[in-house]
Amino acid sequence: MVTGFDKPLKSPKAHAQPEMCIVIIGSQGNNLVESRRCARVAACIEFRACPKLQDRARWWFDIAEPIEQLQGRISIPARQQGIGPPEPLIGTSARRQRLTHGRIVSPPPPRPRRRPESNLAYPPTNAQNAHVTHTEDLGDEVFMLDSAMGGHDGITATYLIRGSRPCLIETGTARSAPTVIAGLQALGVAPEDLATIVVTHIHLDHAGGVGDLAASYPKAQVVVHERGARHLQDPTRLVNSARQVFGADMDRLFGELQPTPTERLVSVGSDDQVDLGDGRFLEIFHNPGHASHHIALVDSSTGDLYTGDAAGVFVPQTAEVRPATPPPDFDLDLALDSMDKMAARRPTRLLFSHFGPVTDVSEVMAASAAELHYWVETVREARQVNPDIDHAVALVRERDRARHPNFYANEALEAKFEELSSIQAQVVGIRRWLDKSQPIID
Ligand SMILES: [Zn+2]
Repeated sequence: MVTGFDKPLKSPKAHAQPEMCIVIIGSQGNNLVESRRCARVAACIEFRACPKLQDRARWWFDIAEPIEQLQGRISIPARQQGIGPPEPLIGTSARRQRLTHGRIVSPPPPRPRRRPESNLAYPPTNAQNAHVTHTEDLGDEVFMLDSAMGGHDGITATYLIRGSRPCLIETGTARSAPTVIAGLQALGVAPEDLATIVVTHIHLDHAGGVGDLAASYPKAQVVVHERGARHLQDPTRLVNSARQVFGADMDRLFGELQPTPTERLVSVGSDDQVDLGDGRFLEIFHNPGHASHHIALVDSSTGDLYTGDAAGVFVPQTAEVRPATPPPDFDLDLALDSMDKMAARRPTRLLFSHFGPVTDVSEVMAASAAELHYWVETVREARQVNPDIDHAVALVRERDRARHPNFYANEALEAKFEELSSIQAQVVGIRRWLDKSQPIID
C-alpha cells in the first residue's frame, strides 16, 4: 500500500518550494512507514523547512488509526504519481534487532547454550595463526599495536607501556590475541614480564582477548571497572548476548571471550592507579556515557590520555571523529560529562582505541562533542516525524555523507569503520537514550 499527499518531490532542494513535497508511506499493521529512501530523507529536510508540511507530517505519523481509513481521505496512489512501487526499507524492523557497539544484525537461529567448564580453569585459547603485528613506537616506552579486528588494519589499537612494569592497555578481540602476543614478543615482553592488562571497558573489541592474554601472561593482573569484572570472570552472558547480535560474524570478528580467573581480576572505580614502575603510574577515572563501566587512563609521566571509546572513534586518514553511541548504555549527559573530565586532565595526547594517537587534543575533543550533538539532534529530529529506526539511520547517513565527503569518498575506509562501529548501532543507541530520557508524550 502506498499513499501520500501533494506533488512528487523533484529534488532535495525542493524545500524552497514546499508545495512540491511528498511523503510516500506504506503500512505495517497500524504503523506508518515510509517506503522510498530518497523521499524519506528528503522529506525530513522538507519538514524542518516547512512548518505547514511539518504539521501535516506530524498528523500522519502521530495518528493511530489504520492507514486504510486514511487512504479514503488523502490518497495519491503511486501509479498516478508516476513513482512506481515502493523500494524495500533499509534493513529490518529495529524491534527484531539487537543492540551493540558494533554492527546490528537480525538474531541468528538459537544455538545451544555453552557454559565454560569452570570459571577458574584456564580455557583453551583462541589459537590460530597470528597476523603480522604492526607496531608503532610512540616514544617514552609507549607502543601502539594494531590488533587488526576482523583482519582490518587501522581500526583497533592496543597499547603497551613497556617500562619496568609492562602494562598492556586493551587486548583487542579474542581472535586478535595471537597477533597481540606476537607484537608483545617482538617488543621484548616475555610471558613472565607483563605486569598489568587494563581494559577501558568490556566490549569485545577491547576486552575480547582478556582470557587468552591472561593465560599467556600468568603474572599479569587484569584491571577492569568494578561493573565489568564479573563478565570477565564468567563471560557466558556477554558472549551469548554478542552471539545473538553478531550471529555468523561473531567468530570472524571476535572469537570467543575466555574467562579470567577471579584471583587475576582487579576491580577499580575512580581514583585508582596502575603502577607502571619507577614512580610512573596510570591514573584511572570512571568516564561513563559510551558504557556505564567505562574507564579512562592518564599516564603520569607523559600526560597521555587513553580514551577507549569515550571520545568517539578517530579516523586517522581524514582526521575526523565519529560518535560511539551504542546501546544499551549510551547516555549523552554522561558522555559529555566524561568528555569534560577528560579535558580537565589537560592531556598532552589522546590515544584512541579506534584509532591511534592524536596531538590536536582540544580540536579533536571539540569535534567529538560537536559530532555527538549533531547525531543526537538528527536522531531526535527524525524521531519527531517517523518512529521507524530505519528512517533515522537513513537521515543520519545522508547528513553524515554530506558533512564528511572525504571519509565517504574512500569506500574501503568507510566499510571497515562501518564494520567496527555501524551507523545503525550508533543510531539505535541514541534512540534508546532519547526514548528513555525524553519519551514522546502522546
Ligand atoms: Zn570500541
